[in-house]
Amino acid sequence: MADTSLPLPPGSTIGILGGGQLGRMLSMAAARLGFRTHVYCPDPDSPAFQVTDRRTVAPYEDQAALADFAQAVDAVTYEFENIPSATAAALARTVRVEPSPSILDMTQDRYVEKSFISRNGLAVADFATVSGTAEIEAAAGRIGYPCILKTRRFGYDGKGQTRVERPADIPDAWSAIGGKPAILEAHVPFLREVSAIVARGSDGTLRSFDIAENRHENGILRSTTVPAGISAATAEAARAAGYRLAESLFYTGVVAVELFVVADGEDGERLLVNEIAPRVHNSGHWTEDACSISQFEMHMRAVANWPLPVPFRHSDVEMTNLLGNEVDNFAKIAALPDTRIHLYGKVGVRPGRKMGHINRLAPLRGR
Ligand code: AMP
Repeated sequence: MADTSLPLPPGSTIGILGGGQLGRMLSMAAARLGFRTHVYCPDPDSPAFQVTDRRTVAPYEDQAALADFAQAVDAVTYEFENIPSATAAALARTVRVEPSPSILDMTQDRYVEKSFISRNGLAVADFATVSGTAEIEAAAGRIGYPCILKTRRFGYDGKGQTRVERPADIPDAWSAIGGKPAILEAHVPFLREVSAIVARGSDGTLRSFDIAENRHENGILRSTTVPAGISAATAEAARAAGYRLAESLFYTGVVAVELFVVADGEDGERLLVNEIAPRVHNSGHWTEDACSISQFEMHMRAVANWPLPVPFRHSDVEMTNLLGNEVDNFAKIAALPDTRIHLYGKVGVRPGRKMGHINRLAPLRGR
């Protein structure tokens, strides 16, 4: 392996596992810095393939394809947390993989992840590991109703989770998640949802983007607003939570920490960590147009061991996802003032599918 403490020179190739829109935007940011990219994804229609120098279309378990990929790249990162962690670990034997495959492994299991977060002194909703209806009933008795049943593995965008209102819901909830090992979690009556997008360099440098406020619909992110409608103290606490997790993971790259803001006393606020995404994140897309550096460039700089600048937000911004056939309105949207449109070039529109996003800018009012 090359000396991984030196900055990767322009012209080097960065491999990206996963070919979705995040891989596409990472690849575009890498190109701006003079890097080449090589995207590895099993789906031949992956949107990132349209903007990469090289591609590998192969299953993540294809050892020969992985060996060729490792040979062809100078460093590897990933854009999707459900890449088999064994794939990332196999690559890491011959090439630098950031963030570390052990982090990928940890965040792939909600129980392990939540336990890690609370071990690090950060509050999470009450939770228990469950693997059958009797265990759910016992855990719900302790946690209280309503609660949420989530599969331990392979959940994203609200997939693999269901709400349990009362004991009679338990059998249906258990079959709704496919009878898989799960966690039962207290339903959090949150005031708001926010995310901390932070970056850590391999030398320990920490950077943070402004805290973003997120609105979900049916478990899918609908819009992100910056600044978030939270107190300065809560924003600082969210940033500190992001830093603490990035440091305790010896993380390299951009990490997103999703948090619930809950009421505390008369008009106080308290944070609970919901989850960690070991990658660039949908709630950081605003940085492309309202900030001195995007999350994508920040991530690629960290992976390449380049300096990490302090991000400076120069506009207020609302990011809105274009879901399903909303993308058909592209011409109307493209005519909106102060609005930047980003389309992912995806083949095939499905309801709820993320087809693009817009960033609507406004003059800076405050932080
Ligand atoms: P997740 O996949 O865990 O990020 O969940 C997706 C979304 O579902 C979250 O962003 C929340 O809007 C909602 N959600 C998840 N867990 C909870 C919870 N324990 N209490 C209330 N809402 C939740």
